Amino acid sequence: MGEKIVVKVGTSTLTYENGRLNFRRMENLCKVLCDLQNRGNKLLLVSSGAIAVGMGKLALPERPVETKQLQALAAVGQCELMFMYDKFFGEYNHTVAQILLTKHVVETEPKQNNVINTVETLLNMNILPIVNENDTVAIDEMPGENFGDNDMLSAMVAEMIHADRLIILSDIDGLYDKNPRQYSDARLITNISRIDESVFKMAADGAGSKRGTGGMKTKLSAAQYVTQSGITCSIINGKRPENLYDIIDNKCIGTTFTASGK
Ligand code: ADP
Repeated sequence: MGEKIVVKVGTSTLTYENGRLNFRRMENLCKVLCDLQNRGNKLLLVSSGAIAVGMGKLALPERPVETKQLQALAAVGQCELMFMYDKFFGEYNHTVAQILLTKHVVETEPKQNNVINTVETLLNMNILPIVNENDTVAIDEMPGENFGDNDMLSAMVAEMIHADRLIILSDIDGLYDKNPRQYSDARLITNISRIDESVFKMAADGAGSKRGTGGMKTKLSAAQYVTQSGITCSIINGKRPENLYDIIDNKCIGTTFTASGK
């Protein structure tokens, strides 16, 4: 029986600088995910990208700042994003389903159970659930009311469905001992068994690109959350979706955070 894996993909992996979808990369990612399903893995994809795709679709030169405009863009973009996923997975005869979540839903037990039941049923039908935060409902100026980025959402979903692994696809090869965008001598760390303050100190604040959201710190929080629940977490470069094969075959790429008790 293959592993149950949550894969998280960020906006900077899915889109070009101008916000338009990177079809080549997205198609390649979908092909690899279909193949991994054929190999017997149960997969759930947490995908960002709705606002960026909305910007591309409406040809906006830059990201608006007003909340209601962001919500409108997310609504347009989510539809387009799912349309493309449906098309690419459909090429390999695989079926996807959309699940939009809020922090409130994930943290409220009866509602959380509804999500778990739906995901389990979909996975048993070999359907790939694609999860995103429901921005129309969730975008809020109140700190703590929403996830803000999908790193933590993917961690909570992985824990909820008792996944074996969380794999975060990023715009960088993994965690470096200092921000490689600032320091040319930064070194990639391949394995971390304990995420403490010294690990958090390696990550600089903020996202690496205009389209990135959480940055390395939120990825570390996500890794800390899942590893405490016995789930292995890896951060790998999303530029090459085939990296997913290597990490599942336990080859040494990216950064892997070993689950506690493993
Ligand atoms: P994504 O869109 O892939 O989720 P983010 O921009 O949110 O990416 O986060 C990854 C970025 O975090 C990197 O591109 C890099 O600029 C930044 N970063 C800060 N500190 C580190 C570090 N120690 N190691 C790797 N990346 C770091």
